[in-house]
Amino acid sequence: MIEVKTPGELQLMRAAGLVVARTLALVTAAAKPGVSTAELDELAEQTIRDAGAVPSFKGYHGFPASICASVNEQIVHGIPSKTQVLADGDLISVDCGAILDGWHGDSAVTLAVGAVSDRDLALSAATRAAMWAGVEAVVPGGRLTDISYAVQTAAEKAGRADGIDYGMIVEYGGHGIGRQMHMDPFLPNVGKPGKGPRLKVGMALAIEPMLTGGGGETVELDDGWTVITADRSRAAHWEHTVAITDDGPWVLTAPEDD
Ligand code: MG
Ligand code: MG
Repeated sequence: MIEVKTPGELQLMRAAGLVVARTLALVTAAAKPGVSTAELDELAEQTIRDAGAVPSFKGYHGFPASICASVNEQIVHGIPSKTQVLADGDLISVDCGAILDGWHGDSAVTLAVGAVSDRDLALSAATRAAMWAGVEAVVPGGRLTDISYAVQTAAEKAGRADGIDYGMIVEYGGHGIGRQMHMDPFLPNVGKPGKGPRLKVGMALAIEPMLTGGGGETVELDDGWTVITADRSRAAHWEHTVAITDDGPWVLTAPEDD
């Protein structure tokens, strides 16, 4: 069963999404060389709580922080740490979730710390383009894997344009979201179109592709959370929470409505 929200409930999700958007904007501005990922986490938690919201990641299956901070070869679920100090040239993804009035928002950005290589900037841009292609497929009457197909083909197109064979992370993907962070359905980031549940007005999905500059194989570290690339290539991750409306996709975690 996929949760279907009323227009009023989507407004509440938008409010939660705005908290996440504001938090990520502040974290983005703070992600400079010499800053630890624990400091970014502190800033995020304070921002979320000041908005009257609750950081959804904190305590989620025991996760100890309010953001996931995944640096360089870390793909997702990196644990913020005082000893992980950002350095010039790092590529960091920050994933953030907040609950406001019982409704969830979930979004991730990839940030360049100082002067980052052109190759890493292209990796991040390709991942972001794949996310937006997925967002555009979040339309009523479509099928779930239309989104998967849009994400995959956009990633492949970016790879051809960049002359880089990006690795696609397939073990992780998007998900339904609403009264909980992770809800049905799981949304693969690759696949043929035209399969899976039909997309209906009032559903909400998190679209979150992850690409690497190398292969798509992953390893989970002994901390039980951090996922890294098996070949230690760098990774990027972008995510938005998107609702299906009569007018098409509504990006609930965008900083402002277009
Ligand atoms: Mg997320
Ligand atoms: Mg998510």
